[in-house]
Amino acid sequence: MATAVLGMQWGDEGKGKIAHFLAASSEMVVRWNGGPNAGHTMFHGGVKFGTHLVPAGVFYPGVESVIATGVVVDLSVLREEVETISRHLGFTPKLILSESAHLILPYHRLLEDVEGSGAKFGTTRRGIAPAYSDRAAKVGVRAGDLLAPARLRERLAERLEALRRAWPGVSEVERLSAKRLAEDLLEQAGPFLTSIGDAAGAIQDALTAGKEVLFEGAQGALLDVDFGTYPYVTSSTTAFTGLSAGTGVPDLRVERRLGIVKAYQTRVGDGPFPTELSGEVAERLRKEGGEFGVVTGRPRRCGWLDLVALRHAARLNAPTGIAVTKLDVLSGLPELCVCRAYDRHGMETTRFPGDAEDLARCRPVYETVPGWEDPLRGVRDYKRLPAATRGYLDRIAEAAGAPVALVSVGPTPEETILTGFDTPEGDRYNPAH
Ligand code: GDP
Repeated sequence: MATAVLGMQWGDEGKGKIAHFLAASSEMVVRWNGGPNAGHTMFHGGVKFGTHLVPAGVFYPGVESVIATGVVVDLSVLREEVETISRHLGFTPKLILSESAHLILPYHRLLEDVEGSGAKFGTTRRGIAPAYSDRAAKVGVRAGDLLAPARLRERLAERLEALRRAWPGVSEVERLSAKRLAEDLLEQAGPFLTSIGDAAGAIQDALTAGKEVLFEGAQGALLDVDFGTYPYVTSSTTAFTGLSAGTGVPDLRVERRLGIVKAYQTRVGDGPFPTELSGEVAERLRKEGGEFGVVTGRPRRCGWLDLVALRHAARLNAPTGIAVTKLDVLSGLPELCVCRAYDRHGMETTRFPGDAEDLARCRPVYETVPGWEDPLRGVRDYKRLPAATRGYLDRIAEAAGAPVALVSVGPTPEETILTGFDTPEGDRYNPAH
């Protein structure tokens, strides 16, 4: 059976905790999009870990972790993460790295600065967009090239030559040598050379054998390169629609699509954000929710929950259930606002615009709902949640068009309430079993 964890906002919904939680009962965990611009935080055995690239399967011996074709890979990040986890947990994770996944190279990080694209779109400056651009322009270097060093050197030399022509006089580019770059890459890739292979085939085989496969999405639907708030988006398909392309598995049936919804809205970097708050409530959400970027440390912009955007994300991800995270952060607020529609030039609309400029013209139309005083972190039973909290969850489920399958009331795996949900086959799904 396959399960997907899908972000329903602008990322940072808490996918890391949920993926780590579900990975415990999986046999294979697959990352299929994005790169080390993602930042997941999870608690494993009481220790806090931050990951950017490795799938959550790495925390469990015996679980296969697959980095699929749709991911762009920075070998230095991969090596550091695998080594840190191996050191702490005492085993080497089982890793499969797709031979057709593209590599992020030192000149990709440089290009974000030289071209100014990093500053313009408030990116994480990890070379993600230039690596995806190279892929589309057919001048990229792929993991499989590491297995053919002569071809690797040749590709790097051609690319460096073209970059020198495009950016004459940029000393950082001038200084790079293809031979040296190839040596560095092969050195970094050393422990993974035997892991490079046919990831699509491995995923297909696992599904055919009826294994529990978890697909771990990075970023969120509103950052999707096509259907997010373009151009303030990430460079890959973050929505469920990208899963087949990102894994290379054509007939992909994902019975359980778990949409992850944070109980309020955040956004890191630039771009329109209709329900953004400033002042006391924003400060409180940022502080209580620890809303600072894992990759950049930047404070995240915070605001009320946006149901218009959530409905849009639900269309893209088609969740069969939702996990609502960080509900505990809202405790103590006497009233909460939810954005039920936008006011666009005096006209009320529930349509999420396809362009960032249009979205910037939208003003939120709020509905006020009761808040709750009680702290929630100790609650483990849905029925023990305050009535106002359950009412709030009902509003979210209604907008997402899917029942609440899981509620997160704190960062650790224990601080989780499971309600389960029905699969299309009518089986009751409870990830704890
Ligand atoms: P991701 O990119 O979607 O994985 O999100 P992050 O890793 O940035 O997650 C957000 C942060 O919230 C992390 O520090 C988590 O430990 C924390 N977190 C996750 N779920 C909860 C929750 O239910 N309550 C609280 N208070 N923190 C949570």
